[in-house]
Amino acid sequence: MPETREKIIAANWKMNKTFHEGLALLVELNMLLESEPTQHTVVVAPPYIHLHSAGHAVTDTGIKIAAQNCHQEANGAFTGEVSASMLESVGVEFVILGHSERRQYFGETDELVAQKIKTAAAAGLKVIYCCGEPLEVRQEEKHFELVKQQITNALKDFQPGVLKDVVIAYEPVWAIGTGLTASPEQAQEMHAFIRETLKGIFGESIAKATPILYGGSMKPGNAKALLSQPDVDGGLIGGASLVAQDFFDIIHSFPA
Ligand code: PEP
Repeated sequence: MPETREKIIAANWKMNKTFHEGLALLVELNMLLESEPTQHTVVVAPPYIHLHSAGHAVTDTGIKIAAQNCHQEANGAFTGEVSASMLESVGVEFVILGHSERRQYFGETDELVAQKIKTAAAAGLKVIYCCGEPLEVRQEEKHFELVKQQITNALKDFQPGVLKDVVIAYEPVWAIGTGLTASPEQAQEMHAFIRETLKGIFGESIAKATPILYGGSMKPGNAKALLSQPDVDGGLIGGASLVAQDFFDIIHSFPA
C-alpha cells in the first residue's frame, strides 16, 4: 500500500529579506500558487520580525508560517529572546529547531534543542527538527552514528503523542548553501535509516507517519529526483526559497 504521509515543502529564509522585500516575495509566491495550487503543505519561515505580517500576506493560499527558532523557556527574563507562545499568538504554526547554523554558530546541543521542542510543542507549535552530519563525519563514515545520536538525544524522552507534531529534516551540513547536494540514493539511504531509528524508539506507526524532509541545496533542477525517493517526504529549502519562481517550481516537483 502506498504511504500517505503529509508532503511538505518548507522555505528557510534565514537572515535574508527586509520587510518590503519579504512581503514582495510572499505576494509573488501567493500569485503563483493561486494560478497553480498544490495539494501539499507549503511552509515559509521568514525572520521573526516579519512573521505577523507574513501570516496576513498568505491567508488566501494556505501557506503556513514558521519561525526559525524559539527560546527553550516558556517566558521570563531572557532579554532579546522570543518564546514559543509568542510565536503561536501571532499565527505561527511551525518552528525550525536544531538547524546546523544554530548548532554551529550559537552552540546549540541536542539537549538544548530537546528542551526547545518540549516548550514549542507545549505552546501548540509543530516542530521541524533538523539533523545531519558535517563533511568530516561523512568522510569518516560515521554519519549514521551521528544522525542516530541527534535523533535519539533530542526525541527519546517524548511521548509518542508529541511525535505527531514533529517533522524531521535531514540536512547534511556539507550540502547546505554549498551547491553540493546529496544524491537521491544518499538521501534515500539516510531517510530510510532515520525511519528505522524512529521505529526503534517509537514503534512502526509513528515511524511510518513522520514526514522526513531533505535539505541541502535543493533547487528546481534536482528537486524531482530527490522528491521521488520513497522516504523523502519533502524539502527544507534555503537559497532557492528566496526566488519565488524557483521555490514554486520545487513545490511542483513531487511525482504525480
Ligand atoms: C537550509 O539552510 O536549511 C538549507 C537547506 O539551505 P540551502 O537550501 O541553501 O542549502
